[in-house]
Amino acid sequence: MDSNSLKRLREWFKKNAAELPWRPADLDAPRDPYAVWISETMLQQTQVSTVRDYFVRWMKRFPDIETLAKANEEEVFKYWQGLGYYSRARNILKTAKQLVSDCHDPCKGSRNDMRGERNKTASEFYCRADAVMHLCNDKRGERKAALPSTRRELEALPGIGAYTAGAILSLAYHQREAILDGNLVRIFSRLHTLNFLPTDKNVHRGCHAPCEGARNDISASEIYWDYAREIADSPKAYMHNEALMELGRTICRVKNPDCSNCPLRSSCRAALENRTAEFPPSKKHTQKDWHGTVLVIESADRKILAVHGGQKFFKNQFTLPHFESPRNASAGLPAQAEHYIDADKVKSVENIGKFRHSITVHKMECDVLHIQLNGKAPAPTSSEIKWVRRGQALDFFASSFCLKALKPLFNR
Ligand code: SF4
Repeated sequence: MDSNSLKRLREWFKKNAAELPWRPADLDAPRDPYAVWISETMLQQTQVSTVRDYFVRWMKRFPDIETLAKANEEEVFKYWQGLGYYSRARNILKTAKQLVSDCHDPCKGSRNDMRGERNKTASEFYCRADAVMHLCNDKRGERKAALPSTRRELEALPGIGAYTAGAILSLAYHQREAILDGNLVRIFSRLHTLNFLPTDKNVHRGCHAPCEGARNDISASEIYWDYAREIADSPKAYMHNEALMELGRTICRVKNPDCSNCPLRSSCRAALENRTAEFPPSKKHTQKDWHGTVLVIESADRKILAVHGGQKFFKNQFTLPHFESPRNASAGLPAQAEHYIDADKVKSVENIGKFRHSITVHKMECDVLHIQLNGKAPAPTSSEIKWVRRGQALDFFASSFCLKALKPLFNR
């Protein structure tokens, strides 16, 4: 993209940047890397309008890495409840704990180790003494955990991939680092009429116009990353990256891009050729229908069974037992329930409702079976089983999948 287009992009962004809780009023100000990490992770697969409140609540409860590292998974899931893809929350917590355990007090470095980068509070500096990035308190000589400032170190942390690392390095540390998310992919595809996606395996000679010779020898993803690096090769990389994300969200939308108000119109091949609807090419849909049964097993002393592992979904957290089943399953106790309970102790089995849900590529429809036992909850035979008091179930089960399954029981 030429320098005039980039200048227009920056000017457009300065005038049109939305007020967001993770975006300071001064668009040139370096940001708290922790806040960038949390907001960008929440924004993956989720709309900005949804993330706003989640981000504010999260930062109020977990304002920094140190506070977060002291939390447990159950509490973190509560603050994530409704955002889905719980592995993201689990990885955030793992990373926070790892960063804190790598960061030992007190700092053995000297003021010479400090990179001179000031954090939002005036008395803290980023420091690299002992080869671990951290924050040093200028006055007290204390140190606190911080996210590292190199791509290699960031991508080695749980849950931080190329995109999140690029966002932290660019938006927080103001490095010339590229990022590539769905918005940028859509814009690059249209600007350069790329008729393939970064996830496509190979790009053959002449499959995108104009033919750029040797570039046809590299992977589809590399072509997109090359364009992203070109945008980031500037002291204003942080602004170019963020401006493109905003442009993709508000102007270069998936449907009906608002080309007449786009600062990049004069350099956009798809707009100039009146072919914006052709780019990017649509993804091959791989959504699968899945029909299942969820078991709400309740003991006579009003406790509900939660299981950890051995399930189709939510493998690493406590969930309600569930399994794939035919649409018109026969009434009665399913054989799968006998993994957890003794069939002779079942008082009643009732289908209490149905719900729809989506997880990754699965479009689900589930029946909910309420199984009542005629005795108290038996002592768990392993750590993978828990009996949760009915009154605490809505707090305990963090996923919306479980909450939907429990709804008919609590609405009675
Ligand atoms: S001109 Fe239209 S298609 Fe091209 S980048 Fe702008 S909004 Fe997108």
